Amino acid sequence: MTGTATFASWFDTYERVFRDPDSLAETACPNCGARTLRMIFIVRSHEAENGTAVFWCDSCRNGLQPLNAPVARGGERKIRGTETVPDYSFVLDDGLE
Ligand SMILES: [Zn+2]
Repeated sequence: MTGTATFASWFDTYERVFRDPDSLAETACPNCGARTLRMIFIVRSHEAENGTAVFWCDSCRNGLQPLNAPVARGGERKIRGTETVPDYSFVLDDGLE
């Protein structure tokens, strides 16, 4: 099952939530519109400044491929190995020319 939203719209949404993680709960999924987006940062330690950002929608199970990123201020941290991420479809960057 592949969503119809583009990589660009997912990435825009990610960037917006990244700047303000508190807005996550009220941000609509770019694909299905549900307010069930999740963004977590998988880190080696609680002090880590960088981690793996995982951004997906719990309703339609689409999201961005996990990417290396700085941990957003106020973002949800999970120590590597303790995260719970469902299987979801990656929205890939189809804008490459
Ligand atoms: Zn969705």
